[in-house]
Amino acid sequence: MRIVILGAGVVGATSAWYLARAGHAVTVIDRQGAAALETSFANGGQVSASHAEPWANPAAPRKILRWLGREDAPLLFRARADWAQWRWALGFLFECLPARARANTRELLSLALYSRGELQALRRELGIESDQSPGGILTCHTDRRDFDRAARQAESLRELGAEREVKSPDQCVAIEPALAHAKARLAGGIYAPSDESGDAFKFTQAIAAHAAAIGVRFRYGCSVERLEIERGRIASVIVHDAHEGAEEAVTADAYVVALGSYSPLLLRPIGIGIPLQPVKGYSITIPLEAGDEAPRVSLTDEAAKLVFSRLGDRLRVAGTAELAGYDTELNPGRCEALVRQTFALFPRAGRPERAEYWTGLRPATPSNRPLIGRTRLPNLYLNTGHGTLGWTLACGSARALADLVAGRRPEPAFRFLESSERAGGALLETAPRSP
Ligand SMILES: Cc1cc2nc3c(=O)[nH]c(=O)nc-3n(C[C@H](O)[C@H](O)[C@H](O)COP(=O)(O)OP(=O)(O)OC[C@H]3O[C@@H](n4cnc5c(N)ncnc54)[C@H](O)[C@@H]3O)c2cc1C
Repeated sequence: MRIVILGAGVVGATSAWYLARAGHAVTVIDRQGAAALETSFANGGQVSASHAEPWANPAAPRKILRWLGREDAPLLFRARADWAQWRWALGFLFECLPARARANTRELLSLALYSRGELQALRRELGIESDQSPGGILTCHTDRRDFDRAARQAESLRELGAEREVKSPDQCVAIEPALAHAKARLAGGIYAPSDESGDAFKFTQAIAAHAAAIGVRFRYGCSVERLEIERGRIASVIVHDAHEGAEEAVTADAYVVALGSYSPLLLRPIGIGIPLQPVKGYSITIPLEAGDEAPRVSLTDEAAKLVFSRLGDRLRVAGTAELAGYDTELNPGRCEALVRQTFALFPRAGRPERAEYWTGLRPATPSNRPLIGRTRLPNLYLNTGHGTLGWTLACGSARALADLVAGRRPEPAFRFLESSERAGGALLETAPRSP
């Protein structure tokens, strides 16, 4: 089959690899000049399969209320006159109900563990180096109540296959000695020894190069304008090619939308509404020199919602979430706060004035479950909505998509999209297989 993938982020590029390897003739279209130059460019780097819970959980509403009005809040809702944004916020609250949060956690965990295995297999098979660090992920808690809750949850998630070990402050410092300065503040930590971190940008560029080597055509500098429908199917995608300075209709047998946060803008005009909002985040990258005392094990500061990943000779720190539309301006206050919080924890982690700032838009669904599979249009597929976990879930989502295109049921116990239409909605989800 001829397949056109829209978007060359980590999700689009991995989809291209698996679909090409399954024998399809694949073309990838992206407006940027190379792969992974938008949200997949400088994320937190964590492949947090054992920590794949959604943000929407029973404790979230209380925390969000506490943060309301605080400019430096880890999660910020900038209210706008936008019905889609309000509907998303209501959907988020619904997903915080205990039964919903439990089901979402189970499904995300299943997809994430599968995805981590696929990522590791690809790396071994293709010899990809992307500053990965296999030292696990340690989630540090400073709030005693949160820590006790996380310790109880670790028990139940272990039964589902997540490796999580409960650690005392001393044990946290033994795992990551750079935490010594922060030990007095720690209530404890949850360690996932089989998780890892790495540079999503480097990996995406590498997998795109491998995909090109097996025949995938990457068309960069091409902006996707709209999808054309004829007789209930996608007939073509209209792109504007910046090199040619002209519009062109690109045709294929099937189309995959992997445009990250921009996916709804293309789908809405053809009557497919998806619950996806851009959620803005920030990162800083600090170059390291010999003698700098930056953490080597990937860390999460649960209270501040910050992640720290050592990427070779750089320290990546990422966090903050703003529901504020498609704004990608760097807010100086947010950048300074990240630097301040980093050096409060790790006073000798490089030089603050050398920090590079970045912001990106997480393609977030209220449940944090991505949308993977076929829409009601028989030749239109989605692989989007990976929110906070796009790097963690990319390889598994892409392999699952290739299975769905081939008519096979993917391995993870996850609700993928189906072809027929749900009453009143655009998409139908299958029931997850039991794990
Ligand atoms: C601060 C921050 C920290 C994060 N940390 C982590 C983490 O530690 N672990 C983790 O698993 N995930 C993390 N994430 C989430 C992860 O980065 C995303 O889920 C993932 O990058 C999304 O990938 P994507 O391919 O769907 O989107 P993108 O990477 O945005 O790719 C979409 C592509 O579509 C292209 N495009 C869009 N519109 C058009 C158009 N009209 N025409 C042509 N091309 C178009 C873009 O150029 C882009 O290349 C983080 C995100 C942020 C913002």
